[in-house]
Amino acid sequence: KSTLYVVATPIGNINDISLRALDILAKVDVVAAEHPQVSRHLLTTHSISTKLISLHQHNETIVANKVLALLDSGKNVALVTDAGTPGISDPGAILVQRVRAQGYAINPIPGANAAICALSASGIINPHFLFYGFLPTKTGLRKRALIELKPQLCTLIFYEAPHRILESIADMVEVFGPQRELTIARELTKLFETIHAGTLEEVFSWLQADTHQQKGEFVLLLSGAETMDKYVISEQAKHTLKCLLIELP
Ligand code: SAM
Repeated sequence: KSTLYVVATPIGNINDISLRALDILAKVDVVAAEHPQVSRHLLTTHSISTKLISLHQHNETIVANKVLALLDSGKNVALVTDAGTPGISDPGAILVQRVRAQGYAINPIPGANAAICALSASGIINPHFLFYGFLPTKTGLRKRALIELKPQLCTLIFYEAPHRILESIADMVEVFGPQRELTIARELTKLFETIHAGTLEEVFSWLQADTHQQKGEFVLLLSGAETMDKYVISEQAKHTLKCLLIELP
């Protein structure tokens, strides 16, 4: 049965790709890639010469027909994006829907994702998070989106572009107040990887003071509306629990 493989690729370090992903990329008949030249570099590095076609945000619907025709003729296709997991703030969902509707198999090949990578190294104890992706680019819409998110108890995860990083954090300070905790994860798995945490106002000043830190790719992790105290048992609560346990039969 013809299959569409949804293959995660590295978010920086070119070796962050699974053995299974490499095997699939070498075996399929065609790789549909967001930017074929970006993916060609990855494939060549790993000595893979599979044919690439372009599938991006603006041609996904049309290219989906092409992919369906390939699957109809018994070929297997892999979908990749420039970096990370397809369909996560990236194209892929329309193709997957169309392929599923035609009854073909869809196999995800898991791997890197910037949000999860950042969260895993953040030390944030809250087990709940909301992945928002990119905020609106216009400040009015961005502030409105942030105001809607303000009551959320879970960690809020955003992607942000370097030319908007300062203005987005400034909007966060305005909407959430200066004291919420922000973790900034920049250039993950790359040479200038930086993970920095502090209150919103601290992180804003830190970033403003160093233009080098304003370059590259960013994940922002903003703490939820409540403090994390509820996930850490206080000494007093431990004492109360101990007293209550003694009373139990
Ligand atoms: N599909 C990708 C994923 O699974 O993470 C996300 C693609 S989205 C178009 C690109 C955004 O992801 C960047 O603007 C940045 O916010 C984030 N990102 C990607 N790679 C990153 C990295 N190495 N370090 C920090 N953020 C990264």
